[in-house]
Amino acid sequence: MKRFEKILLPVDFSDYSEVACDYAITLAKTFHSTLQVLHVINEPVDLRGFYVPHLSFEQLETEIETGASKMLDTFCQEHLKDFGAFETLIVTGVPYEEIIRAATEKESSLIVIGTHGRTGLDHLIFGSTAERVVRSAPCPVMTIRLPVSV
Ligand code: AMP
Repeated sequence: MKRFEKILLPVDFSDYSEVACDYAITLAKTFHSTLQVLHVINEPVDLRGFYVPHLSFEQLETEIETGASKMLDTFCQEHLKDFGAFETLIVTGVPYEEIIRAATEKESSLIVIGTHGRTGLDHLIFGSTAERVVRSAPCPVMTIRLPVSV
């Protein structure tokens, strides 16, 4: 029988991430999986060393990383406190690229991802991140919509 030993949960702190997390926990309990909770800091490529002085940009980056880390800790405390088997990962880059990279490098067996997210960019069925992850992921992908009542 195929098992999902490692489930990658990309989190952008939207309502979709919260609902996806509930599904990921249910699956992880069923298959005795480890959850890999990933947040990608969107890389502001155009800003790097161009619009702002190098030093202040580095300071800004440090503050962004600290803030992202706190938000991910809070998310895990709120949603995963009763489920111990998880690891967190924060990287910087383009979300869909980093999600696929993490799934490959961390040998995820399943990705659980929201159909849409915080950006509100509304493709018909999928947001752009979800669509690109579905197209290129190295493992199965489960996409999660919000319940109609949310
Ligand atoms: P989107 O396609 O951008 O509307 O987002 C769809 C889903 O992709 C979200 O519900 C998240 O699961 C995931 N996602 C989007 N952006 C990020 C991010 N910066 N870090 C981690 N996951 C993300």
